[in-house]
Amino acid sequence: MKTRKRLKKQVYVVLIVIIILLIGIVFGVNKYKEYKYKQTYEYKLLDHGYSENEVNKLLNKFNDEEYLNYLLNEEKNSTIIDLIECKYYLDKNFYNYINYMKENTDLNAEEIVRNINIHLDNDFYENTITTDTSLDTSMLVNKYYLLNSEYVPDDLVNVSQTYSWGEIGSQQVREVAYNAFLDMWNAANEEGYYLMINSSYRSYADQESVYESFKRTSGERYADSVAARPGSSEHQTGLAIDIFSKTNTNKNTFADTEEAKWLAQNSYKFGFILRYPEDKVDITGYSYESWHFRYVGIDIATYIYENDITFEEYYAYYIEK
Ligand SMILES: [Zn+2]
Repeated sequence: MKTRKRLKKQVYVVLIVIIILLIGIVFGVNKYKEYKYKQTYEYKLLDHGYSENEVNKLLNKFNDEEYLNYLLNEEKNSTIIDLIECKYYLDKNFYNYINYMKENTDLNAEEIVRNINIHLDNDFYENTITTDTSLDTSMLVNKYYLLNSEYVPDDLVNVSQTYSWGEIGSQQVREVAYNAFLDMWNAANEEGYYLMINSSYRSYADQESVYESFKRTSGERYADSVAARPGSSEHQTGLAIDIFSKTNTNKNTFADTEEAKWLAQNSYKFGFILRYPEDKVDITGYSYESWHFRYVGIDIATYIYENDITFEEYYAYYIEK
């Protein structure tokens, strides 16, 4: 009897030990899991004040720990979520967006992304870049991207006197743009419009003399408001043409003509964009020019037309590497 009792007692002891061990293991595993979870970015970001929804968006966007660590070192800021959700957000500009955002609290996320992408955080002609002419009809020329003085397109053709004033040879356009212009001219003509090219290819030297003469007589500020500095005129690409009608070449009134309206609505079908629209002056740095069209090819022109963006914005997101 005594031995059975002792045996029974020993079984109990063993059972209790096993139970304690099991509890210990479960507890330990849980503790370990908790410890592990606290090491995750999910936990750290939630702990930093971001909502579950925001954390999901951040984790989906960033595989790179560098950005997540940066966010954890910065104060919680939900505008960052708005930034990464912008259509034209670019990873490479992440830090620039954040710094620019801090300095420009009046701007929304879309504006921050746009301005940084197209260099509007700099003054015009500040930190300029040499235009990549190897991009051909997609090259960008503006007040940040300048052509060098030697650049001359090698496929300029003379515009027929049917479509331009002055002597033959006084107007030249790159062949690809000229062919597109002829298609557009015919389409417009079928609807009763007569388009005329008023200005086309302009050499670096030509642009220089135009700009310098304004500068000499009225100062740099005035010159900058009416003319592009040499190297920054799209006319040097041979892809830009100033189009008016046979009956109206007045820069002040052309916008109100049927021809100008037709061009604004149809030029993209032939690969041209209205380069300096009325509502994009702050982006392009140019006053509204209802006559200035730039050849970029049908695909790009269509995208720009349908999405109502500038070539600057398109270039930053889709072309520039
Ligand atoms: Zn022009």
